[in-house]
Amino acid sequence: MSISADTRRLVRDRAHFACEFCTVAETDTGGELTLDHFHPKAKGGTDEPENLLYACMRCNLHKADYWPIHSDDLPLWNPRQEPMAAHLLILTDGTLYPTTPVGEFTIARLRLNRPPLVAYRLGKLRRQETELLLSRYREIVRTLEQLSAQQALLLEENRILLEEQRRILRMLLLE
Ligand SMILES: [Zn+2]
Repeated sequence: MSISADTRRLVRDRAHFACEFCTVAETDTGGELTLDHFHPKAKGGTDEPENLLYACMRCNLHKADYWPIHSDDLPLWNPRQEPMAAHLLILTDGTLYPTTPVGEFTIARLRLNRPPLVAYRLGKLRRQETELLLSRYREIVRTLEQLSAQQALLLEENRILLEEQRRILRMLLLE
């Protein structure tokens, strides 16, 4: 049985149109990604949405039909069951650092530190930093605008006070 268009759409939407292993998005690759059977069909996996992942061609290719069989075989990180942070850390140089044996094995098997991917992550981190700086800058500009509005208000109050003083002085002089 092949996977229906509805199931494909569900898996794609659920993954926000990005590879669930490496986060590369359709808008980065310029096309739809592939469906991966987390538990490979060749090893008894099903076409159920719970067993399907949205994955880029590279991750899918490296993962292939891996499935732990022997007692000392490690499982791969399942992005549908655990967040990336459960096994992997993104370092500031764009590389992934494993925090568990499963994370280490997943990086090795899926080549998650392949150079173009590291460069991609680094670019993303830089963009996030720039965004953060820009939002801070916008905040400062907003605060300055508020301050200058307050200052204008104070100046106006001052002007009114002076006017009042002049009026009183004039009255006193005329008496
Ligand atoms: Zn990928």
